[in-house]
Amino acid sequence: MATIIDGKKLAKEYRMKLKSRCDDLKNKGINPKLAVIMVGNDKASQVYVKNKSKACEEIGIIFEEYLLDENIKQEELINLIEKLNQDDSVNGILLQSPIPSNLDINEAFQKISPNKDVDGFNPLNVGKLALNQDTFVSCTPYGIMKMFEAYNVDLTGKNVTIIGRSNIVGKPLIQCCLNKNATVTVCHSKTKNLKEHTQNADILIVAIGKAKFVTEDMVKDGAVVIDVGINRDENGKLTGDVDFENVEKKASYITPVPGGVGPMTIAMLMNNVIKATENSKF
Ligand code: NDP
Repeated sequence: MATIIDGKKLAKEYRMKLKSRCDDLKNKGINPKLAVIMVGNDKASQVYVKNKSKACEEIGIIFEEYLLDENIKQEELINLIEKLNQDDSVNGILLQSPIPSNLDINEAFQKISPNKDVDGFNPLNVGKLALNQDTFVSCTPYGIMKMFEAYNVDLTGKNVTIIGRSNIVGKPLIQCCLNKNATVTVCHSKTKNLKEHTQNADILIVAIGKAKFVTEDMVKDGAVVIDVGINRDENGKLTGDVDFENVEKKASYITPVPGGVGPMTIAMLMNNVIKATENSKF
């Protein structure tokens, strides 16, 4: 039976440490602030934004929400980002995705000041991660790396297989794992013989968005399995991309859904807001 990587507990410990850093800033008269921009009314995004606002409240970060109409023009979105870039009271800017497809999200990410880019999506910060320089690492990969640290999972020389190559999860994870000396394989929808790659993995990270896609037969004995997926199963129950019940019997460590990667993602966002504030003031 695998050890369950308790993301919920770990995230709480992180939030407590961040609260103390936030208190130190406040004692110096500095009030960390996160500005979140949401375009349209995507239901899942509303839940994610609410969770981010709750975490801010717990730590003492000011949370400012900008709800934009789905018919907004690109220029208006960019104007808002530029206004927030100029505002010294704002330390972090987050553009919640998805945004309507007529808007150019890449241009928007590029416009967010690299110093306030707490999601780590500005190309400058993406480049810094690739060069293994200090930067804002995007929150889900960063949270996963912190889980490895907390559970003493050493990546040196390990075969890491990542399923999924999105800009927000899969791609930054490649760099994070490489920076920790892993041998990294990245799989996607065009990968042939997926099972061969997953069975070879000492560490398997799954981020595709398909409920219970990874089954027991795809996993090596004793592998560390990280499940990023958030899906609803046929009964409407929240479930990951991994068939947890069966894979748990074979893995050495595994993350649950819910209570695994999700809470750590939010904790790392909070970390990045505090870091952005500290960077700007000292
Ligand atoms: P995307 O939809 O952007 O990317 C999915 C990736 O999975 C793509 O690279 C796609 O390949 C690949 N893929 C899809 N089907 C297959 C398949 N059959 N075999 C192999 N690869 C496949 O998703 P995200 O990265 O944004 O999110 C993935 C999941 O993680 C979602 O469930 C999302 O909700 C969740 N998520 C959870 C977070 C958390 O904090 N817990 C944070 C972010 C996301 P291709 O590129 O070829 O299309």
